[in-house]
Amino acid sequence: MKCFLGVGGAALALLVAFSLPSPAGAVWPFGRAGPDAPIEDLAAAAAEILSRAIRMDTTNPPGNERPLARLLVDVLEDQGIEAKLVETPKGVATEGRAAAWGRVPGNGRARPIILLSHLDTVPANASEWAVEPFSGVVGGGYVVGRGALDAKGVAVVHLMTLVELARRETPLDRDVIFLATPDEETGGRDGAGWLVAQRKDLLRDAQYLLTEGGGILAGNGGAVPVWGVSVAEKSPCWLRVTARGTPGHSSAPSADAAVPRLIAALERVRNMQTDVRVTPEVQRMFEELAPYAAEEDREGYAHLSLGLAVDPRFQSRFLSSRGRAALVRNTVTITVLEGAPRTNVAPAEAYAHLDARILPGQRCDVFANRIRAVISDPGVEIEPILAFPSRSSPADTPLFDAIRATAAELDPGAAVVPRVIAGFTDAHYFRDLGIVAYGFVPRWLPPSESRGVHGPNERIAIQNLDRGVKTLVRILEHLAASRQ
Ligand SMILES: [Zn+2]
Repeated sequence: MKCFLGVGGAALALLVAFSLPSPAGAVWPFGRAGPDAPIEDLAAAAAEILSRAIRMDTTNPPGNERPLARLLVDVLEDQGIEAKLVETPKGVATEGRAAAWGRVPGNGRARPIILLSHLDTVPANASEWAVEPFSGVVGGGYVVGRGALDAKGVAVVHLMTLVELARRETPLDRDVIFLATPDEETGGRDGAGWLVAQRKDLLRDAQYLLTEGGGILAGNGGAVPVWGVSVAEKSPCWLRVTARGTPGHSSAPSADAAVPRLIAALERVRNMQTDVRVTPEVQRMFEELAPYAAEEDREGYAHLSLGLAVDPRFQSRFLSSRGRAALVRNTVTITVLEGAPRTNVAPAEAYAHLDARILPGQRCDVFANRIRAVISDPGVEIEPILAFPSRSSPADTPLFDAIRATAAELDPGAAVVPRVIAGFTDAHYFRDLGIVAYGFVPRWLPPSESRGVHGPNERIAIQNLDRGVKTLVRILEHLAASRQ
């Protein structure tokens, strides 16, 4: 796709022309201000740091997040904030891998809150983009590039929040900890997973954590903005399906060859129906969304399990959205597929990967047994590749109240909804430790911009960086006030 929101070549040239050059060597882009001086132009500083972050290619694998972690640590230290670079397992990264950690101390009356983001990104296919994905273009009110939303933009908002808190000398009752980790996009085992196992000291017995996974659906066209705070996630139950059969020359086909056997197994998986099941978290999410739903759906949203069970018309409207359907069902998608390496070879083995996502509270081994029963072929083996249980965080906490209070103040009339997401983030590593973890990034995104996550022309409005920092600071101030 070469068209960028209808912006043609001339406008694109303008975008590039606006790209800010960064002064060589300077860490903080706008000179060194003392603690008394407010940040003159918080938005421009955030945009410049994000642009530099995008120019450091951290496509995972291999990640190579170390230089970016260094940049963020340097910015924090330059602003007089305690920070350190945390070495993590290197893997195959030539430039190394690391996490960035920083802390603005509170008075110790309450346990810390962690602002968690990640440094790595998914790949970008330059031929689908209107600009070079790792050039960090700043212009037209946006920062464009891979990671602008997911999640370098989140890291920069968190970083600037610490800078702002340190400068304001806001009295804090708890430490605010900045943590940006490597390796999230491939499951976090060498990032957040490694840190929670090996470097618990960095978490300082935190009570709360905010990370990606939720945000603000901008209320365009008169719709009410929705602040979606993710309190629960579906969990992955990734499976490898291996079919074995008689190998040989494909000119004399065998009745039990591996590839046809695999295809037959996958066809059964493809036609498998999973039950509709409403978990308490999903029930609550739709109950809170009910007042904003279309008139005909209000009753069904308010009593979701009943509505889905007894009202076929509501059920078909509800399930017609893939996003909604994924919240009330285990899903399974056939992704990787591998048979013979050549046209004229019948291989001994063929395999596929299934990306199954199961509802909070369910177990992967139970779901895998279900798949085994559906396939019902002793020549086909099913093994787990990645699975972990998913825990939810309670929605009745002082942090949730602080988010509600901030919404009432900065975005009056907005709905604040504890939601469940169909994807997963690194939050589960922290929920396992008993930390109340919410997926919430204060940025107002229309669907056209959300599509940039893992897609082409990922970009973030500079205004969103600015509002993000101000909103996060207010949430932390409300949280501090709630303890007094
Ligand atoms: Zn992400």
